[in-house]
Amino acid sequence: SGTVLLQVRVAPLGLDRVLVLAEDRTEAHRVEAIRRDFVVNVSHELKTPVGALALLAETLQDAADDPVAVRRFTERMQREATRLSALVQEIIELSRLQVAGALQNPSPVPVREVVEEAVDRARTTAQAKNIAITLGGSLDCVVYGDHNLLVTAVRNLLDNAVAYSSPATRVGVGVSERNGLVEIAVVDQGIGISEPEQERVFERFYRVDQARSRDTGGTGLGLSIVKHVAADHGGDVTMWSEPGRGSTFTLRIPSADIPAPSGNPPGPAA
Ligand code: ADP
Repeated sequence: SGTVLLQVRVAPLGLDRVLVLAEDRTEAHRVEAIRRDFVVNVSHELKTPVGALALLAETLQDAADDPVAVRRFTERMQREATRLSALVQEIIELSRLQVAGALQNPSPVPVREVVEEAVDRARTTAQAKNIAITLGGSLDCVVYGDHNLLVTAVRNLLDNAVAYSSPATRVGVGVSERNGLVEIAVVDQGIGISEPEQERVFERFYRVDQARSRDTGGTGLGLSIVKHVAADHGGDVTMWSEPGRGSTFTLRIPSADIPAPSGNPPGPAA
C-alpha cells in the first residue's frame, strides 16, 4: 500500500529552534508483522505432532504388556518424531531466510552442480517408488548466488515431484537460458493441483490434502522456502499444473553471464 510509517523524534536546539528526525519504519513494521504471523502459525503446527506424541506415550504405558501394541505405538511415535524433526528443520530454514533477507555472500554458481546435487539427494526416495529422474538442457549456465540455498530450492521441488507422483512415473529436470534468465524446470506426471489450489500452494503451511500430505511427511513449508530462495536471488518461481496430468514448477534466476550496466558483477536486485 502507499502508507508510510514514520517514527518522528523532536529535540529542542535552543529557544526558537528544534531538530526533527524522521525515520521510515515501514519495512521494519512489515517484517515485524510477518514474524508475528509466523510465530502464531509455528506454534499451531508444532502443537499437533507434540500432542500426538504425548497421547501415544500415554497409550503405550497402558499397553506395556502387549508386545504387538508396543511395537505399533513405538513405530507411530518414531514417525511423529521424524515429522517433528523435519518440521523444526524447515522452520529454522525459513526463518533464517525471512530474517536474513538478501544473500549473505553471493558468488558465481554453476547450475550443473546445483541440479546434480539436488537430483543425487532425491534419488533414494525416487528409487523407492521406481521413479526415474532425468536431467537435461543447458546445464552449463551460471547464476549468481548461494549454492546451498539453490540446492535446497531444487531439492524441495524434486521431493514434491516424487511425493505427489504415482510409482513408475517419470520426473524431469530441464535447464534453459533465455533473456538473461536461467530457468530450472521440474516436471512431473503426478496428481497435479486444481486451479483454485494453485494460488495457495506457495503459502506457508498450506497443503492441498492434509491427510495425504501427512502420509508423505509434508510440512507445507517447502514451496515457501523455494519462493524465498528465488526472491533472494532476484528471481521467481512459477507453476503450471493440471489435475491428473502433472505439474511443472519453474525456478527463474538471473544469469551471471549478463554484465551489469555499471560494470559490477551482476547480483540479485536489491
Ligand atoms: P509439503 O511439505 O506439504 O509438500 P509444500 O509447500 O512443498 O509442502 O507444498 C504445498 C502443497 O502443494 C503440498 O502439500 C501439495 O498438496 C501441493 N504440491 C506441491 N508440489 C506438488 C506437485 N509437484 N504435485 C502435486 N501437488 C503438489
